[in-house]
Amino acid sequence: MARRPTRPTRNSAAPRPAAAPRASRDASPCLCGLPASYGECCGRFHATTAAAPTAERLMRSRYSAFAVGNEPYLLSSWHPATRPTRVDLDPAMRWAGLEILATTEGSAFHTTGTVTFRARYTRRGEEGALHERSRFERHEGAWVYVDGTFVE
Ligand SMILES: [Zn+2]
Repeated sequence: MARRPTRPTRNSAAPRPAAAPRASRDASPCLCGLPASYGECCGRFHATTAAAPTAERLMRSRYSAFAVGNEPYLLSSWHPATRPTRVDLDPAMRWAGLEILATTEGSAFHTTGTVTFRARYTRRGEEGALHERSRFERHEGAWVYVDGTFVE
């Protein structure tokens, strides 16, 4: 897992450029769990050279963005109606794997969709998991994250 670079200017109001994917990361297996390299999988979405075709792919790319600390992508893939002003990425969080448990709609033929997933992490030596059902919508043609509810 790539370490999040330190950002001394995190309180700055100026927009920050997207984290530049490194060549070594591009060739590494994608963090989202699909059998592809990062450069061919979520890296294309993070670089905005391609748009996620389904709600599930957007969900996976957001997980990868959390894992690499790509806050600009997390914000741009968030529905404007529910988007926070910033995402507080916890530098102690190490994302350890994503499991897609269920999806509804969210394909090329839909305008809404849900993805239920479990994301494992370690934080200061403690293992945990985020189990959430996320809602997605198309906004100006592109899939965006709306909100999520925790699943018990
Ligand atoms: Zn991926």
